[in-house]
Amino acid sequence: MMLTNTAQGYDDARLGYQRLDPHRPEVIFEVTSAAEIEEAVRYAVAHDHRIAVQGSGHGLTSGIQKGVLIATRRFNGVRVDATAKTAWVEAGATWRDVMTATAPYGLAPLSGSSPGVGAVAYTLGGGMGLMARKFGYAADHVHRIEVVTADGVRRNAEDDPDLFWALRGGGGNFGVVTGMEIALFDVPALFGGSLYFDLAEHPNAVEAWRDWTQSVPNDVTSGVTMIPFPDVPQVPEPLRGKHIAQIQVANLGAAQVIEPLRAIGRPVLNTVGDLPYVESGKIFAEPESPDSYRAHNALLSDLDPKALRTLPKTAIIAIRHLGGALANKVDNAVGHRDASYSLTVLAPGRKDVDRRIFEPWQASTIGRFLNFIYETLTPAEIAEAYEDFDRLLNLRDRYDANHRLAPNHEIRALQ
Ligand SMILES: Cc1cc2nc3c(=O)[nH]c(=O)nc-3n(C[C@H](O)[C@H](O)[C@H](O)COP(=O)(O)OP(=O)(O)OC[C@H]3O[C@@H](n4cnc5c(N)ncnc54)[C@H](O)[C@@H]3O)c2cc1C
Repeated sequence: MMLTNTAQGYDDARLGYQRLDPHRPEVIFEVTSAAEIEEAVRYAVAHDHRIAVQGSGHGLTSGIQKGVLIATRRFNGVRVDATAKTAWVEAGATWRDVMTATAPYGLAPLSGSSPGVGAVAYTLGGGMGLMARKFGYAADHVHRIEVVTADGVRRNAEDDPDLFWALRGGGGNFGVVTGMEIALFDVPALFGGSLYFDLAEHPNAVEAWRDWTQSVPNDVTSGVTMIPFPDVPQVPEPLRGKHIAQIQVANLGAAQVIEPLRAIGRPVLNTVGDLPYVESGKIFAEPESPDSYRAHNALLSDLDPKALRTLPKTAIIAIRHLGGALANKVDNAVGHRDASYSLTVLAPGRKDVDRRIFEPWQASTIGRFLNFIYETLTPAEIAEAYEDFDRLLNLRDRYDANHRLAPNHEIRALQ
């Protein structure tokens, strides 16, 4: 369905999860098929419009002010092949759609912290999931991708090694993906959840988590988010008004592995237990309703305890433990596989991220992970996310020479 900016339903179709600076296109194509995506791209070519794509809208940094928006959220089918252990995921499917389809077979995708996130865009950006240390990036387990390139031609990307390489990690820079075939894993359930520690009572909780991560097996993927919860009735009572370290654990092995975390002390809230994979959103328990936010990220070679002590108590700071299978060499565009930790600073509302928070981490910073960045970056900052930026730049020139696509974190020549 095509909607102009005066049509009823325009606002509903353009607004996604991220509400800061939403898209304001001239025309929206609310697509329900690959053929409609093709039609939308050809319309944009014929009218010389730029094209933005929106799935669930979790990743938006800055909306387009003109041009064409391809809204994919109603094109969200998932077809499971339980024998081959694969799923064909249409452009607008969220991880919740995928998990709901795969759960009856005891199979799980390489989804992330929030079930509401779009599976395709997450995977195009690499995709760092709940079982990342066990299986690697989501982009490492993609078998096929169908894409409409900026010239309006529908292609099977796996037939073109360059295009297939770039799409797996290079984001939305190379075309509009109509769907992809991803691998599924025999994970009907896992042992996971969060331990919430009051940092006033347990100031060493984050350092204890860091020490624990130094020796955990790849079965364990974990993170910690430091959150200064406001003292308001909307916040659950045990967390209200407290500076909390939420340690998130997803464990595919023996339950005892988390015992050293229990030694930190008594958490104010503990949600760790056996969990069907389809309920894995409970591990991070992230908010589901639309929000406004900025965020910046650094990938780190180590988590320096001295730098940890400099983190301000007023910001939301999320650290994830990497390594394990994330370090496997796979021939795709995902960069900086040698990172050991990811550090993200989130600024809710309309505030910008205070970049000074990253200064004590400069010595250990080796790059950045664009999936966790919601602010406008310079071309050079975007380049730092990749190891083979020149190849990506050449391929962007090959597949979208006129820069018709307006992706989140656009790959552009360095000035
Ligand atoms: C609460 C929350 C939790 C998250 N958790 C994780 C996590 O655990 N691991 C992780 O790796 N990331 C995570 N992310 C980041 C998320 O994966 C990215 O922001 C992703 O791009 C969001 O996809 P979307 O469809 O939800 O967003 P959208 O904003 O709809 O899409 C983001 C961008 O992707 C591109 N795009 C979307 N659809 C297509 C398409 N069909 N073809 C081509 N390009 C397309 C466009 O450039 C678009 O601007 C999280 C984000 C949030 C807000």
